[in-house]
Order: sequence, then C-alpha cells, then structure tokens
Amino acid sequence: MNIAGISSINFMSKIIDSHAHVGRHDGELYHKSDLDVFIKSTLSNNDTVEKIIVSDLSVLHSLQGEYEGNKALAELFKNNPKYSILASCNPKDGNVKNIEKLFKEYPNTFMGLKFHSSIQQLDLSDKKYEPYMEFASKNKLPCLFHSQVNTLPDGKINPAVKHIADPENIYSLAKKYPKTPVVMAHLGAGWKESHDKAIDILVESIKKGDANLYADISWVDIDEPQEHIVKALKRLKGIGEKDWKYGDQAFRLMFGSDAPLARFKGKDALNIYTDFIERIKNSIRNDNNLKPEADKIIDDLFYNNSQKLYLSPKTNSSKNKFLIIGAVMCLVGIIGYFANKIKQKESKTGFLYSKETAKLG
Ligand SMILES: [Zn+2]
Repeated sequence: MNIAGISSINFMSKIIDSHAHVGRHDGELYHKSDLDVFIKSTLSNNDTVEKIIVSDLSVLHSLQGEYEGNKALAELFKNNPKYSILASCNPKDGNVKNIEKLFKEYPNTFMGLKFHSSIQQLDLSDKKYEPYMEFASKNKLPCLFHSQVNTLPDGKINPAVKHIADPENIYSLAKKYPKTPVVMAHLGAGWKESHDKAIDILVESIKKGDANLYADISWVDIDEPQEHIVKALKRLKGIGEKDWKYGDQAFRLMFGSDAPLARFKGKDALNIYTDFIERIKNSIRNDNNLKPEADKIIDDLFYNNSQKLYLSPKTNSSKNKFLIIGAVMCLVGIIGYFANKIKQKESKTGFLYSKETAKLG
C-alpha cells in the first residue's frame, strides 16, 4: 500500500497465507496454536496476516478418516474469520462420499480440496482421483496438489527418477478437468531446475489453454535469492516471451508458506516467516522489469490472488444455487406479470405479440 506520492514506502501489506496445516506429519503434531502466532501480531515489517488457509495432514496420512478429520478441522476453525479451510482428500483409503457429506453438513466452509500424492504414494493417473476431481469440477473448487521434482545436489533435475508429484503428472490430471483450478503447491518443490520445470508447465498450459493451473510459492527459493519467484512472475506476465498474447497471467501465482511445518514452528518462526516475505518483496522491487508496478504485484501475490481463487463466493454451492433458482423464478414471475399487463393493454389496441414474448406470459 502506498501513501500518495511516496511510492517507496510500503507498509501494512495485507497477507493471505494460502497454504498451511494442522495435524500430524513426519512424527510431529501441528496445532492451531502454532498458526495463531502468525495472525495474532503484526509482523515486524508491519504486515498483517489477515487470513490463513489450512488443511489437515493426518487425513492425508490416513491417520484419521476423511470425514472425521475434516469435520474436526471445521469445528476447530468454526466462526473464526482469520481462517479458511480446505478439505483434505485421501483417494487411496477414502471415498468422495465423505467429502460430499462434509460439504452438505458444513455449507460454505470448505474452500477447496487438498491432495498429496507422495504421502499416499498414489500415482496421479490413478482413477481413484476422478470422483474427487469431478466433485471439484461440479462445485468449481480449487484443488491444491503437493508438487515436487527430483533434483540432484547441484539443483539439476534428476533424469533417472521422476517424482510421483512431478508437475508433469499434475498437468496430465488437470487436463482432464480443464476448467478446474489446480494449484501446484511449492511451484515444483526441490530447488533450481525443479522450479524452472514447474514454471515451464504453467506457461505451456496457458499457451495451450488446456488446463487451469496455478502455483503457490511455499518453500520456493527460501534459502536462495528469490530468482524463481521473480522468473515466474515475469514469465506469467509474458516478459521476455516471444509473441505473448495471453495478457497478465500473474494471478496464477500466490503466497503460501506451509506453516507451521519445519522451520515455521518454534521461537524463530515469526522472524523466519517475516524475513521470507520481506526478501520476496525486495526482489520484486529490485527487478528492473517488475519495479514499475512492484506495489501492485506485491498486493496481488500476497493477497488478491488467493482471495480471488479460494475465498470469492462459489456461485454454485447448494445454498447459492437455491438463491439463484429463486431469483430467476422471481424474475420470470415479474416479467410474466408485466408482459401480461402489457398484453391486456395492447390487446385492446390490437397489438400482435411475437412468439418469444408470448412464452414469457
Ligand atoms: Zn503442505
């Protein structure tokens, strides 16, 4: 945000953290209180985390049932405007009926679905994903998928072993549901070339228009200069791309942290978190191409893009569907009433109605 005329001062950015968890993972149990630290205080750079989008890890690990685990999550964050939740899916051991039941019992609560093919060791080409993806597609729900690329110690892609959660595999699944937003978490976790691969796939999907891919930047360049975040933004804007005719596609990239996993738990968590945010912002501000609209890019990356993708109302949730049907019926009734009035009036004058108008009456 800018004070008019003082464009170099950036203060009190609003943040949506689009990727966070509670539950058990790698022998560690993550609690709501581990996430509360991020939203209960203004960060030391004056930013505020307005909202955290959480999903449950225990369900992904089959340590809890899909229904029970997600229900507990819904209850834990009920009536708390600082949190939104995604329903964790376990196509390996679960059933989409659990997810359908949760969406019925907790309308307007789950903002999307979360998948983790490598935890479940379930190949993304497996048919077990399909009922979940069909549910997401029917309800216009974004789907967050763990993504990862096997890299060698020098950051080059390991050609010998393709990771189960490779962006290529996610892209193949996303192509079967071309309108459903599919988010590649971590922009192809790994490092260096792993992110290049995820960026290439994002750009390819835009050019071909055959999938609706997004990505979050959790763990991306966390111990490095923010080279790949900047690269992703530029390529999504078509900067340096030949014959780019797709406009600004940077809305496909958003901030997420994966908190409170690993270094985002414990006494230094808040400082590490703030430092990561600040380094990303600085690398955007210091890039010659991004500099002129740095403030807008920062607001979009850290807030607006997640808001639009996850938090804008879904027009076809069952409650809204009834509202829309109701509104259409009212409108037809009103039009019918007036058409009839006019007809009565006009018939006196011998006016002839077209067939289309007559149908409304
Ligand atoms: Zn995660």
